[in-house]
Amino acid sequence: MRASTGADDGDRGATPGSLRAEVVSIGDELTTGQRLDTNSQWLSRELGLLGVPVAFHTTVTDSLEDGLAAFRIARERADVILVTGGLGPTADDLTRDVLARVAEVPLELSAGALADVESRFARRAAPMPESNRRQALFPRGSRIIVNPEGTAPGIDLDLSRTGSAGAARVFALPGVPGEMITMWQATVGPAILSLLPGAGTIRFRRIKCFGAGESAIEAMLPDLVRRGREPLVGITAHEATITLRIAARGADAAACEGAIAPIEALIRGCLGGIVFGTEDDELEDAVLASLAAADATLATVEIGSLGQVAGLLAAAAARGPAGRFLGGVVLPGMAAGTSVTELATRRRAESGASYGLAVGPVVPAPGSDGNGGAGVTMVEIVLVGPDSLTRREHRLGGAGSVRLARASKTAIDLVRGAAGAPLAAEDKSRGAAG
Ligand code: ATP
Repeated sequence: MRASTGADDGDRGATPGSLRAEVVSIGDELTTGQRLDTNSQWLSRELGLLGVPVAFHTTVTDSLEDGLAAFRIARERADVILVTGGLGPTADDLTRDVLARVAEVPLELSAGALADVESRFARRAAPMPESNRRQALFPRGSRIIVNPEGTAPGIDLDLSRTGSAGAARVFALPGVPGEMITMWQATVGPAILSLLPGAGTIRFRRIKCFGAGESAIEAMLPDLVRRGREPLVGITAHEATITLRIAARGADAAACEGAIAPIEALIRGCLGGIVFGTEDDELEDAVLASLAAADATLATVEIGSLGQVAGLLAAAAARGPAGRFLGGVVLPGMAAGTSVTELATRRRAESGASYGLAVGPVVPAPGSDGNGGAGVTMVEIVLVGPDSLTRREHRLGGAGSVRLARASKTAIDLVRGAAGAPLAAEDKSRGAAG
């Protein structure tokens, strides 16, 4: 069934998957390749989680003619059209004009939206440029999507089709990714969800993991990460931190939470100590929490990780338990005849911390010039505690910045293992993250 998605047509007969979406990104900086279109990727994933397949991605210039052409095509082939960009105040921000022309309606000033834009300027004690009045113009019959973070409100509009197949529903959002994401979460995602049957609401739980790669984690979760599964479990990797996201649809929040709980328990059961937190937790937050639970402290010294270990821990200390991270030393190199274990031991003694963590210099990995392949490098990581010494050789892999992030997180994870949460047995012996 090709469902009508008109706002007020009362059609709730669609089943997930019966709506087709198109994502339209607007801007010369996208078509000229000066900026990568990450909005389409983000929105497509979100739509997928709701069970709405994205059939088309369109990227179009700022010109009126190109915009008109894009929307005249999109409204015929998609039920829901997600648009980002071109809602700003300047003369080349034409999304509102394009939508009004395609809908064949005039632009009208919204007094409420104008007051909102004006009050934003007033709060900053800045005069509002005349051009910003444009941001209070909306195609007649459209609905305003509130933008809590910027001056450009979004536009929610029905575009009739030339055939008889109802209307296509357009949601136009600002191009700035942070604003777009906030508006999706607050308004647009729930509005699209309400177009689908039997899905009153949706809830997510993110489970954060470290200590194994994406595919290894997927293999440990039999049949859990699968398209079309309900609740849906998605997996993403960012700098060796793996996030599992459970998305559950249900009549209300309690039903969603009820569906999430057993899946979360199953994941935790399968992954053990690889799971370090949920939602926005980072590995370094988990480490400071386990130090706090053990009433212990940590000081670091690093060479090969260029201060990243200290940077991550300092940032976590600023937002979490204070007084656990006693500070980090970054050295340009290691004096001849010194060992990484000595560095860690000395750092612990001089700082008075319960744990001293040292990351040595980048050196060729053993056997790297033989059959193991040339150019493979490693750092030695040593953690010295009150009655323990843990040593790990971490092979550096992946692209530049990811390499260091991985090494730094592997070092930080040693503390998590020593100070509290047990590491997975497999991880202990293998010694390298993802
Ligand atoms: P504003 O009023 O805040 O300028 P806008 O809707 O006019 O909003 P644009 O001017 O098109 O948005 O884009 C604003 C900025 O958002 C761009 O400079 C770019 O940094 C970013 N941006 C726009 N579109 C995308 C996209 N598709 N992917 C990633 N970033 C984007």
